[in-house]
Amino acid sequence: MSRSTKEALSELELGKQTLSEISVLKFGGTSVKSIARIQHVAELVKERLKTGKVLVVVSAMGDTTDYLLKLAHQIAKTPNQRELDSLLSTGEHISITLLSMMLNALDVSARSVTAYQLGIFTENVHSKARIVDIQFDNLARAFENCDALVVAGFQGVTANGDITTLGRGGSDTTAVALAAAAGAQYCDIFTDVDGIYTSDPNVIKNARLLDRISYGEVVEMARMGAQVIHPRAVELARQYGVILRVRNTFKPEHQGTQIGGGADMEIYRSVSGVAVDKDNACVAIMDVPDQPGIAAQIVSALAKKNIVIDMIMQAFHPTAGLNNITFTVASTDLAQTNTILEELKLKMGAKEVLADEDIAKVSLIGAGMAGQPDIAAKLFTTLGDAKINIKMITSSEMKITCVVARGEADKAAKMLHDAFQLDEAAAK
Ligand code: ADP
Ligand code: ASP
Ligand code: MG
Repeated sequence: MSRSTKEALSELELGKQTLSEISVLKFGGTSVKSIARIQHVAELVKERLKTGKVLVVVSAMGDTTDYLLKLAHQIAKTPNQRELDSLLSTGEHISITLLSMMLNALDVSARSVTAYQLGIFTENVHSKARIVDIQFDNLARAFENCDALVVAGFQGVTANGDITTLGRGGSDTTAVALAAAAGAQYCDIFTDVDGIYTSDPNVIKNARLLDRISYGEVVEMARMGAQVIHPRAVELARQYGVILRVRNTFKPEHQGTQIGGGADMEIYRSVSGVAVDKDNACVAIMDVPDQPGIAAQIVSALAKKNIVIDMIMQAFHPTAGLNNITFTVASTDLAQTNTILEELKLKMGAKEVLADEDIAKVSLIGAGMAGQPDIAAKLFTTLGDAKINIKMITSSEMKITCVVARGEADKAAKMLHDAFQLDEAAAK
């Protein structure tokens, strides 16, 4: 997605409009989970058409992706990745056609397109491919024949014509990539809550809706488990200067949360939220030789399979010449990680590979946390007083993450939310 191409394309005329003036709207799975909801979405799109052409990105209906995954797992524990992506992409294929038909039924000229038809090219990696290029001329041309272009989220295509998917929750990333490609100023992410809260409002009842938040904070929240938006969508929005508005499909008049696009966006809050991620496992390779290049071998072997590792740590070992290396991976990558580590164990002469699946990450996130030791002290005191055992800790400029037993994660999040009084608006 080169800027020059983007600029050139945003100049393209679409009737009276330029491509950069289109509205880009994304609707998640709950927003299109039934025909009645698809009708509601179609009505919203029709309303938006009053201001010009609309590009709509949709997810699969309700839990369709989970259902398709289950079907595949009835056949194989680790299904063929190419076939799995092709299967999972069908969920979005269904929803774009139904929404398009519904728009037609409301007298809107609408067309549905898959990633293959539109040319959303990705790298040649299955299950979490990154977008490398969007065919701008295709995008402009697709709009010449309709007012509402309905694009399948979550899917891509490789240069070889294989179908890929962008990772769970990836329709947000499709929407932002298309907004960036069109040169649009805004991308509206419609979901089932009012916007971004200080924590998951379906778990922490007194979580507070944030009317604005910086890209950096949302990236951290999303990476640390706040499902409300795909982290790569926020990174892409920051890179291309797209302003995100996360809002409720069922309260379209509500402003929601705006991310980016303001001079006062460098946030004054020390702590802005608590995120919980229950889809992780902790792995350790014990007694590896304490030699240069060992960590590199481990990380490279995992990177080759596109396995993202987090919270990597190597601590002081009581026996000279040995180390333990511990890290977390997504639960879905655990089986493959174990296989790779077992091979490395033999090669390196390590003692054993351990895995703990009963974990969750609880993260405290805030743009102003760096250099404030009292925040870490309060966090550990709060969890300690509640007798919640911390299995691992990491910190960076904008977050402190603790690994706790999965069953204690929600309680830990609630205790931290209360201790840092996140339900109350911070003073400016
Ligand atoms: P969609 O299907 O629209 O993509 P998701 O289920 O992926 O919706 O994301 C919305 C959900 O994210 C909400 O229902 C909420 O439970 C969850 N969530 C987690 N953390 C947060 C947060 N900090 N703010 C808002 N919602 C959150
Ligand atoms: N349908 C995909 C999923 O369930 C993508 C998305 O909803 O964003 O993960
Ligand atoms: Mg989502």
